[in-house]
Amino acid sequence: MLVQKFGGSSVADAERMRNVADYVARVQRRGDQPVVVVSAMGHETDDLMEIAGKVSRTRPGREMDMLITAGERKAMSLLCMALHDLGVAADSFTGSQAGVVTNGEHTKAKILDVRPDRIRAALDAGRVPVVGGAQGVSVEREVTFLGRGGSDTTAVALAKALGADACELYTDVPGVFSADPRVVPSAHRLSKVSYEEMLEMNAAGCPKPTMRSVEFARAHGVRLHVRSSFTWEPGTWIEKEGSAMEQAIVSAVVADQSEAKVTVAGVIDRPGIAAKLFRALADKLINVDMIEQNVSLHGTTDISFTVPHEDLELAKQIASDLQNEVGATGIYADPDIATVSIIGAGMRTHPGVSATMFEVLATEGINIEMISTSAIRLTCVVRAGEADRAVAALHKAFGLDREGGY
Ligand code: ASP
Ligand code: MG
Repeated sequence: MLVQKFGGSSVADAERMRNVADYVARVQRRGDQPVVVVSAMGHETDDLMEIAGKVSRTRPGREMDMLITAGERKAMSLLCMALHDLGVAADSFTGSQAGVVTNGEHTKAKILDVRPDRIRAALDAGRVPVVGGAQGVSVEREVTFLGRGGSDTTAVALAKALGADACELYTDVPGVFSADPRVVPSAHRLSKVSYEEMLEMNAAGCPKPTMRSVEFARAHGVRLHVRSSFTWEPGTWIEKEGSAMEQAIVSAVVADQSEAKVTVAGVIDRPGIAAKLFRALADKLINVDMIEQNVSLHGTTDISFTVPHEDLELAKQIASDLQNEVGATGIYADPDIATVSIIGAGMRTHPGVSATMFEVLATEGINIEMISTSAIRLTCVVRAGEADRAVAALHKAFGLDREGGY
C-alpha cells in the first residue's frame, strides 16, 4: 500500500491531472494499492486567499477554511473523473469523510486522530480513494484547514493510520538536493537522507517537504519518498538513519536569506539580562533562531540574535525599549545577512568538519559573523551577498559535486 500525495504543480491543469490519473492506474495495475492525496490545482490556494483579501477585511477563520478547502475538493473530484475514464474505480473523500479529526483552530488546525474506515472500505472494494489534502473536521464538526503545505501532513497521517508501506510526495522536482540546483548546477539528488538530516535542512532554510510532515513521519516511522510527477524517476527516501558505513560526512549545503540580525551591544554582564531581553521577545511571539553572546573580560558583553525579516523592526523596538534597563550602549539591526549551513549525520563521528568549513569560507574571503551548531549541522551567518558563493565553495570542498559525497 502506497499513499501518493500530488502537490499543486502535479495537478495544475487538465493534462497534468490526466497524467497523474494514468500513473495511478498503472500503479494499481502492477498490483500496488494506491491511496491518493491531492493538493489544490496550481496556485489555487494563493488565488483563494487573494480573493478573500479583496472581499473581506475580517476573513473569519471558519469561512476561510470553508473557502480554502474547496481547492482540494475540486482537485480530488476531477482526478476521480479522470480515473473513471481509464476504467479505474475511484472515490473522492473530503478530510472529514476520510476521518481526519482535528482540533478547532481554524486556518492552522492540528490532527488529533485519523479514523480511515471509509478509506479502508473503499480499498476493500477494490476502489482507489482520493483524499483532499490539508483538511479535516473538528470535534465540533466544523471543516478545518491544516495550514499551508498541510497536504503533506494529511498524506503522512493517512500512511500511519493505514499502515502503508511508504508515503510518496510527488512534486515538480526529482527529490531533495545536495544544494539548491539554481545556485549550484552540479548539485545532485540525494538518494537517501535521515529524518534528522531532513529536519536540520528544514531548519536551515529548505522549505520542502514541510518540517511538520517530516516530524510526523519520524515520530511514527513512516518512510517518505520525495519524487517527481514530471519524470516519475525514483527520488529521495527520507527514513531512519542507516549504518554508519553509508553516511556522508556532509550531505547537503543550505542557505537561508529569510533572517535578520539584531545586536544589543555592551550590556552589563550579570544574571537576568538575557532572560529579560528574550522574555520580552517571546511575549511578542518573535521566533528567535540563533543567539550569540561573548563573555567579556570587562564586565560587559554583546548579545546578537537572528529573527525572521518580518519581525526585525519589532525586535529592534523591543530591544531599544530595554536599552537602559540592560545597560546597553547601542542596538543595531542588520537586515543584510544570510545563514549558510552544512548538514550531515556523519558529522557526529568525524572531527574537523567545522575547521574545514571555516577554512573554505576564509579562502573565499568570506567573514563569519555568527556560528551555531547542532550534532549534525553547522551554521554560519555571512553577508547576504556572499551566501551563494559560500554555498558553491562548501558544496565543492565537501565533495558533493559528485555523487556519493565526501
Ligand atoms: N494547497 C494548500 C497549500 O498550498 C495545501 C497543500 O498543498 O499542502 O498550502
Ligand atoms: Mg532559520
